[in-house]
Amino acid sequence: MANPLSYLTAQLQEWRQEGTYQRLRVLESEAAAESRFDGRQVINLASNNYLGLTTHPKLREAALAAVREFGVGSGAVRTISGTMRLHLELEERIARFKNVEACVVFQSGFAANAGTVSAILGPDDHIISDELNHASIIDGCRLSRAKIHVFPHKDVNAAENILEGLHEAAGRKLLISDGVFSMDGDIGPLPGLAEAAEKHGAIMMVDDAHASGVLGRNGRGTIDHFGLHGRVHVQVGTLSKAIGVLGGYVCGSRDLIEFLYHRARPFLFSTSHPPAVAAACLAAFDVLEQEPERIQALWDNTRYFKEGLTGSGFDTGVSETPITPVIVGEAKLAHDLSKALFEQGVLATGIGFPTVPKGKARVRTIVAATHTRPELDRALEAFRSAGKKLGLIQ
Ligand SMILES: *Cc1c(COP(=O)(O)O)cnc(C)c1O
Repeated sequence: MANPLSYLTAQLQEWRQEGTYQRLRVLESEAAAESRFDGRQVINLASNNYLGLTTHPKLREAALAAVREFGVGSGAVRTISGTMRLHLELEERIARFKNVEACVVFQSGFAANAGTVSAILGPDDHIISDELNHASIIDGCRLSRAKIHVFPHKDVNAAENILEGLHEAAGRKLLISDGVFSMDGDIGPLPGLAEAAEKHGAIMMVDDAHASGVLGRNGRGTIDHFGLHGRVHVQVGTLSKAIGVLGGYVCGSRDLIEFLYHRARPFLFSTSHPPAVAAACLAAFDVLEQEPERIQALWDNTRYFKEGLTGSGFDTGVSETPITPVIVGEAKLAHDLSKALFEQGVLATGIGFPTVPKGKARVRTIVAATHTRPELDRALEAFRSAGKKLGLIQ
């Protein structure tokens, strides 16, 4: 009998031929500034572990203590019997940190976005969304069945024109942007967007996954960075990147959060975090407040590394954050550069279409607070040598 899944095999074969088939690199040590992947010790420029918290002793200890006291699982979804005291403590902690009334934690940032947009909007509503918003926002928009209006990247005027055009339209309007965009490392034009939302009575939502722990006082994110407290109704953050653990959260009014307790599907239908995850996240917020020098080191490293790349003649695009792309053009070239770097002991991922536009393929780098100067120098040397070999720089 013919295999009804044979079309998948054919597709994989096609991807292999066009060179876009992806083999998973296997991490054989801790996720740290230098890690072992596929048997090779490399400087890791491909991780979102901005502050080095994945291996911070306080987080480790908190997780171990929670395992000893509470076991390894919560046993149920939050609404049945899976709400532990630790979950509530974490939500209260984040709400205080973000200077909002309340917070709900999801299993991931992906679940937070997809679960929230689809819960608060329906088919009669309108979403005005930046074209480069994260996939989890796009999925949430689709699940809501609201009408989706995409505006060109960071184009506040275009967003405002869409809102104006919807002036007479029935239904609610949601204006949504990433705080920091994950492929280019640029910052969303939040003051302009917040003003447009206010003018047109739209809900303002920001996904701060890459800004949490990176921008704003002690890593409070882009809303704090721009001084927009009270003007963004729905703030999403992640616990999986700079926080170093796993999870996502939504911050806002008490009623928004209680509504999500009742209607957000990942909250209702998927089991809550193990106690170790909640405990480690709680410890991470202590670290953000007690060790601001980590964020300082992150930004010092960012400036140093960016200057090294541009000084060597690489095109780093429009980055304003620790996410620094090295834009090379064709996808094959990005993958070749990534491979050449790995041979020289540097891990940085090649990214091509459809994740980024055709002709804008890149190797994406993210430095961490925990990279040392010698490590960054070695990484820069690898970029120079590989870049020359591939004809990217002189
Ligand atoms: C990484 C990311 C997410 C998803 O966060 P996870 O916690 O990894 O699921 C959501 N939005 C943006 C902008 C991201 O970069």
